[in-house]
Amino acid sequence: MAGLTLRDVVKSYGATQVMHGVDLDIEDGEFVVFVGPSGCGKSTLLRMIAGLEEISGGSVKIGAEEVNDVPASKRGVAMVFQTYALYPHMTVYKNMAFGLKQAKTDPAEIDKRVRAAAEILQITDYLDRAPRNLSGGQRQRVAIGRAIVRDPEVFLFDEPLSNLDAALRVQTRLEIKRLHERLETTMIYVTHDQVEAMTLADKIVVLRDGRVEQVGSPIELYERPANAFVAQFIGSPKMNFFNDADLSSGASGILGRTLTADEQVGLRPEHLVPCAAADAVVEGKLELVENLGEYALVHLVTAQGSEFIAKTEKPPAGEKGSMIGFTIKPELAHYFDKNTGLSK
Ligand code: ADP
Repeated sequence: MAGLTLRDVVKSYGATQVMHGVDLDIEDGEFVVFVGPSGCGKSTLLRMIAGLEEISGGSVKIGAEEVNDVPASKRGVAMVFQTYALYPHMTVYKNMAFGLKQAKTDPAEIDKRVRAAAEILQITDYLDRAPRNLSGGQRQRVAIGRAIVRDPEVFLFDEPLSNLDAALRVQTRLEIKRLHERLETTMIYVTHDQVEAMTLADKIVVLRDGRVEQVGSPIELYERPANAFVAQFIGSPKMNFFNDADLSSGASGILGRTLTADEQVGLRPEHLVPCAAADAVVEGKLELVENLGEYALVHLVTAQGSEFIAKTEKPPAGEKGSMIGFTIKPELAHYFDKNTGLSK
C-alpha cells in the first residue's frame, strides 16, 4: 500500500496544454475520486499516475519514490478500464492469471491468488468460462480480479461502471466500496458521475479544464463548495442561482442579509420549502412537475426569467402557470461572487 504525491503536474499535447499544474496529496489507503465534466482531464491525470502517459512537467510520487521515469509495469499500480479488455480466447481463470504468469510467478502462488480473488468477487463458479459467456457485470468483476491478483500498491479505476446498465452500476459500485473496505488499499477512481463520487469517495477531487477546483470529503464539497462550479457539480438536481432581483421583497429579512450587485445566492432544490407568498425568499411560476413518487421535481421560473428547480416531497397543488413561494433555512443559503465565482 502507498500514498501518492503530485506536485505541479503538467501535461501538454504538442502546443496544447491540458493539465495546468496539479498538486495533490493522497493518503495511504484512501479512496479518492477524480470527478468533473467530460474533457476536464480526469483520465489524463489517472493515466499519468499509471505511467500510460508521460508527464510534461512536475513530479509524481508513489510512496516515497518519484515515478516520473518508472515504466507502468514497475509502478505497483493496477488499472481497471471502462472496456474490460479481457482476452476472448482465454478462460476467466487464465485471464486473471495472465499477468502473473508473464511475471513468472510461481504457479502455486498464482493459483492461490486467482482463487482468493475469485472468492472475494464471487466468480469462483465462472473460472472455466470464456468471457463471451459472462454478463457485462461479471466481465467487469473479472477485470477487477485481474487487478486484485497483482496485489498492487494502488488500484486505478477509469470509469469502470460506464458500460453497465443502471441497476448493475449501483450493485457494482457497492461491491467496489466493499472491496476497498476489505483490502484497505489506496484506490483512485475516475468518473463524470457525481453520485458515484459522493457514494464512493473518502476524498473527491473536482477538476475543470485541467485544474483542481476543490479537494474535500463528499460532505465538505456539498456543504462548503469553494465556488459556483463545484456548487453546481455536486448535488442533483444542481444548485439554483439567484440575483437580488429574483428574490422576494422579504428575502433579506429571512436570509439575514442583502445581496449586493455582484453577488448571487445559491439555494439547493432539496432545501426549498413551499410557503405562503408573504414568507417567501423566492417565488416562481410553475412550469413543469416531474413526479417520481418518492419526491417531485418542480420546475419554475422567476418573474425575472431565472429558471429554478425545487425538490419537494409531494407535487405542488397549484396549476401550471400559478405562482409558488419558497423559503429556506438561512444557514443553507450559499453566497458567491458573480465575477470570480468564489464562495463568500
Ligand atoms: P476526461 O477524462 O476528463 O474526459 P481527458 O483526460 O480524456 O478528459 O482529456 C483532457 C483533455 O486532453 C481534453 O481536452 C482532451 O481533448 C485532451 N486530450 C486527451 N488526450 C489527447 C491526445 N492524445 N492528444 C491531444 N489531446 C488530448
